[in-house]
Amino acid sequence: MKFIKILLPALFILLIAFASELSDKAASVQRPSRGIASVDENDSTSSISEPSELSDTQETPSTSPGTQAMSTAISGAARASVTKYMTPQDFIASLTQITDARPSSLSNVSVSFVSEDSIYWANGVNYNLGGTTAVQTAKIRKLILAEFQLYPTACLQRLGLRNLITSADVNIAQDGTLQERTATLDAPNGIMTYADSLIIDRPRNIYLDYLDNAERIRGLEAEGRTDPEFTRYLAGERRSLETRRLNGLQSLRAVINNIHHEFFHYWDIRDDNNLSPDPAWSALNPANFQYGAGGRFARGPEVINWTTTNPGFLNGYSLAGVDEDKAEIWGALMAHSSELQTRMSSDPVIARKVELIKQRAQSFCPEVNASFWQRVQNTNGARIEFLGRLMQATDEAAAEMTVPSF
Ligand SMILES: [Zn+2]
Repeated sequence: MKFIKILLPALFILLIAFASELSDKAASVQRPSRGIASVDENDSTSSISEPSELSDTQETPSTSPGTQAMSTAISGAARASVTKYMTPQDFIASLTQITDARPSSLSNVSVSFVSEDSIYWANGVNYNLGGTTAVQTAKIRKLILAEFQLYPTACLQRLGLRNLITSADVNIAQDGTLQERTATLDAPNGIMTYADSLIIDRPRNIYLDYLDNAERIRGLEAEGRTDPEFTRYLAGERRSLETRRLNGLQSLRAVINNIHHEFFHYWDIRDDNNLSPDPAWSALNPANFQYGAGGRFARGPEVINWTTTNPGFLNGYSLAGVDEDKAEIWGALMAHSSELQTRMSSDPVIARKVELIKQRAQSFCPEVNASFWQRVQNTNGARIEFLGRLMQATDEAAAEMTVPSF
């Protein structure tokens, strides 16, 4: 991600310059990924803007005042890099389509990977994606093909999901911060991107990104400026690195949970253009309960472990925000169905949350009915087994593997 090193310091300054403009435009959409190590550490960001901002986030970057201003401001030597800025449409056109056989349920979804470092701009966010090869992203791609086949075609269509993309790295720059993600969603443009770091431990890349970020902090400090939020983020990154080294890869189920957790954020936005607040959901919580500041401030592997400390919530992460609470329930339904069943029998609030999320899903997408959930449960073992094989395979062997039909 060489370009990040060159370009982002300049960008960062520009982002600050245009912060007020950007914050007006920011879509609430950009939910974090829970890094691998971080997986379970959580989302690395969490700003939730007002739902009303979602309705007008469809414009393309070329007409965005922020983009125009930025293009004008960057000149000279940096100019060449600016050509890397793409509209979502150009970005999609630049992708390399996969040739892998794909499940028929994904017949209307383009599945591709980012073969060159790319930056595209949409809805107030810079998406910085690292190029890679088909073989290198084979593991995450096969896993996505396997997991997304569970979702009914009609449902994916209704959700407007048009592009499932894999990338070596996924970073986003928003509101003056750069964040590393294991997945991003650009819901207005129908794009979900997963980084192969979700299932492949690439400590070196992460470490290089960390160094880049640390260098930016030093640069800002040298200019007599600081950005407390970014510094806090960086501290989180350092913890994430340390945790990654200690823990290695997360459990297979946690990886699958993560894929669906992120997809649920996409769904949650697309079904009614509203992520948060969610009064009907919050009403299920104990009186006077208030969610935290968002996923980015709920870090550390401990927050993802299920606990009965807070009745009505699966884990500490569920306390971070109403959107995370919902996504944790959805991830659990998709990856931990029997454990969730046990939990529901002793926690009526969790049982009601499961009921509500299923009800909402089915009313948006009638195919997500009892037999859908039965299928999810029945295929659980086979899906875990497939992921286990993927993880153990070399990249080359994974590239040759056939995605089973569940
Ligand atoms: Zn999340």
